[in-house]
Amino acid sequence: KYAELANAGVHEQPVYQPGKPIEYVAQEFGLDPALIAKLASNENPFGPSPKAMAAAQRALQTAHLYPDGNCCALRAAIAQARGIDEEALIIGNGSNEIIELLGHAFLRPGVEVVMGDQAFIVYKLIAKLFGATAVEVPMQDFGHDLQAMRAAVNERTRLVFVASPNNPTGVANSEADLIALAESLPEHVILCLDEAYAEYLDRAPDLRAQVAAGCKVFCMRTFSKIYGLGGLRVGYGYGAPELIQLLQRVRQPFNVNAIAQAAACAALTDTAFVEQCRSENERGRAQLVAGLEALGFATLGGQANFVLTNVGDGGAFFQALQQSGVIVRPLAPYGMAAYVRITIGTEAENVRLLEAAGVYAASNG
Ligand code: PMP
Repeated sequence: KYAELANAGVHEQPVYQPGKPIEYVAQEFGLDPALIAKLASNENPFGPSPKAMAAAQRALQTAHLYPDGNCCALRAAIAQARGIDEEALIIGNGSNEIIELLGHAFLRPGVEVVMGDQAFIVYKLIAKLFGATAVEVPMQDFGHDLQAMRAAVNERTRLVFVASPNNPTGVANSEADLIALAESLPEHVILCLDEAYAEYLDRAPDLRAQVAAGCKVFCMRTFSKIYGLGGLRVGYGYGAPELIQLLQRVRQPFNVNAIAQAAACAALTDTAFVEQCRSENERGRAQLVAGLEALGFATLGGQANFVLTNVGDGGAFFQALQQSGVIVRPLAPYGMAAYVRITIGTEAENVRLLEAAGVYAASNG
C-alpha cells in the first residue's frame, strides 16, 4: 500500500522507457551481441574518443575520492573551448539533469512551459513532474514553429524549450530566428535552447551576444552525442552567471562523477576525433536517406546523427527489425506512430539496417 502515500502527481507520471541494452536484446532473440546494430538512442557509433578513454582509465586510480563538486577543470576546459566565462557554466549528470534543474528552480503548479508537440519528450516529463502545465505548440514540417511558440507565451509562462536540431525530427532552426525569439521574449520567460546535436551542424548558432546583453537565454549541450560519452552521463548549461548560480543551488553536491569529468575534459581536446565523426555522420546520412528512399520509405535526413523515416507502422517495423538484431526507435510516444527514428551508424551498421528494412519492405510492401 505505497500508492496511497505517493503525491498525486506521481500517478500521472509515465515511466520513461529507454531502449533496451544490447545484451538484453541478444538474449531475448538468441543473437550474438557483437552482431547487434543499436541504432535507437543517437549514440556515437564510433565509440568514445581514445583520449577520453585513456583519461577515464587514469581517473579510476582516484575513484576512492569524491569528485570535484564544482567541476572546476571541466568548466575551465569548456570555457576555453567555447570562449565563454566559467561562471556562465553548470555541469550536469547528462543534459537531462540540467533540464530537471530548470524544473527545480522555476517550475511549480500554475506556471506554463512552452514546447513543440514533436519535441524531445523530457521537456514534457519534467513539466509534469513539477506540476507545471506543458503547452504543446504544433510543429511545422517537423521543425519548431518559433512564431507560434512566441504567440503561446503568456504571463504564466516561465520556460520555452527549443531543441535545435530537434530530437526526434532532426530539424534545426536558424541562428537568426533563434536570436529573434530570444530578443522578443518578455522578462519573465527563459528561452532554453537544447543544443544536444549542435556539433553536427555546419555552424552552431552563437547566442553569446544575447546572453551578454541580458537576454534570458540558456543553452544546453551534452557529451553523449558526438563526444561518444553517453554512458558516463555528462552535459552542461550555459547562461547568465546569475541564472547559473540559481541552478547550482538546486543540484546535488556531487552530481557529476569523477570519471565523467576527466573523460569529458579529454574529449574536448580530441578535435580530430570529433571532426572524423562529423564527416562520417554526413556520409552515413546520405547512405541511409538514399537507401531508405530506394526502398520506398520517405525519409528526412535532418541535421543531427539520426534520420526520421515513415515506415507506415513504426511499432511493427521496430519489432520486425529487432528480431534480426537491428534496433531502431518507434515514435508512438511522440504521437508519430507511422515513423521510426534511426541513428546513423557505421557504414556496416547502415548496410545491415538497409538489408533488414529491405526484407521488411518485401513482406509488407
Ligand atoms: N536533449 C536532446 C534533444 C536529446 O536528444 C538528448 C538525448 N537523447 C538529451 C537532451 C539528453 O542527453 P543527455 O542527458 O545524455 O546529455
